[in-house]
Amino acid sequence: MALMEQIRQKAASYANEYIAIRQHLHAHPELSYQEYKTSAFVQEHLRQLGIPFSIMAGTGVVGILEGKNPESRCIALRADMDALPIQEENDIPYKSQNPGVMHACGHDVHTTCLLGAARILKELKDQWTGTVKLIFQPGEEKNPGGASFMIRDGVLENPAPAAIFGLHVHPQLPVGRISFRAGKVMASADEIYITVKGTGGHAAAPNLTTDTILVASHIVVALQQVISRNCNPQQPSVLSITSIQGGHTTNVIPSEVKMMGTFRAMDEEWRFKAHELIRNIVEGTARAMGAEVNLHIDVGYPSVYNNEELHEVAKGLAVEYMGADKVDETELRMGAEDFGYYSQKIPGCFYRLGVMNKERGIVSGVHTPTFNVDESAIETGIGLMALFGALAEIR
Ligand SMILES: [Zn+2]
Ligand SMILES: [Zn+2]
Repeated sequence: MALMEQIRQKAASYANEYIAIRQHLHAHPELSYQEYKTSAFVQEHLRQLGIPFSIMAGTGVVGILEGKNPESRCIALRADMDALPIQEENDIPYKSQNPGVMHACGHDVHTTCLLGAARILKELKDQWTGTVKLIFQPGEEKNPGGASFMIRDGVLENPAPAAIFGLHVHPQLPVGRISFRAGKVMASADEIYITVKGTGGHAAAPNLTTDTILVASHIVVALQQVISRNCNPQQPSVLSITSIQGGHTTNVIPSEVKMMGTFRAMDEEWRFKAHELIRNIVEGTARAMGAEVNLHIDVGYPSVYNNEELHEVAKGLAVEYMGADKVDETELRMGAEDFGYYSQKIPGCFYRLGVMNKERGIVSGVHTPTFNVDESAIETGIGLMALFGALAEIR
């Protein structure tokens, strides 16, 4: 029987077992970089499958799975394991047992799909060629991102994968469907912190003060030209000032105003050029108006870029596996993913698994207290991951 057909059958027959695993992980969520029990669970599962692994970045687990001629090819499959500081509001038997913590981004599903794929690939190891690196990483939800620590600890070396695949649940995509996108797919995300300082004083004597509120206002308005006048209009980018705090009464000009915001981009060169523009505007405006200013840009995840050739290969396999009518195009998003760290280093393919089911009321977005998935997606998620591990090739 063809390898693809064997993968399909195994994914179908193991689906219920892995749905139970997902429910276990869902009931026991852990915050970023604290995935101790989840990591232990993954390690135990790999041990039972006879797959050797090493530990990286604290709670990260990297399994090495060898097929025929292990040196000839190496493909990495990545899952993230962390949950979010959200109190779950779903009324389900496997509701989070950890108060204030919830798998609201589907990382329980990602971990489950990779464990299932590992089992199938192990059982079929005489039928595919090369090595598959199974990456279970911590801390996707929290800067600077678990992926950056995994790379620091050598996850992309010994052996060096030629390509990496990552899966994310998509609550706006109906269950049974999958989606891909070539090239730019998600944005970089940097945090902006600005503090304007000056001599405050009586509001009736502004001539004796530096009006930090006025300076901050000018900065907010001036920052709007960073993108509108400098960024290529064909290049998506967003700069939002999301918080202004200063002053507390009508007759005092405050000596300090604090602001925060987010900057998103799809191009790494533009991203760092924009950082400079932001700095020039913030510092120049404050100087011109006689105020002091402190600007801190917390550099977050790089943008996610899907290699065109790998995209073609993956989409082709998915069409063969599921049928062309089940394969969609992912829309461009300004959200961020630490998968970007991998995709900046080696060819990557970050794809979406449909988990929405309107009839069953499963429609909530990620990062909401009512987020859930239609678990029949797990069979597809396992099968495709195994398929990419076994058959994806890149020159
Ligand atoms: Zn998330
Ligand atoms: Zn996520």
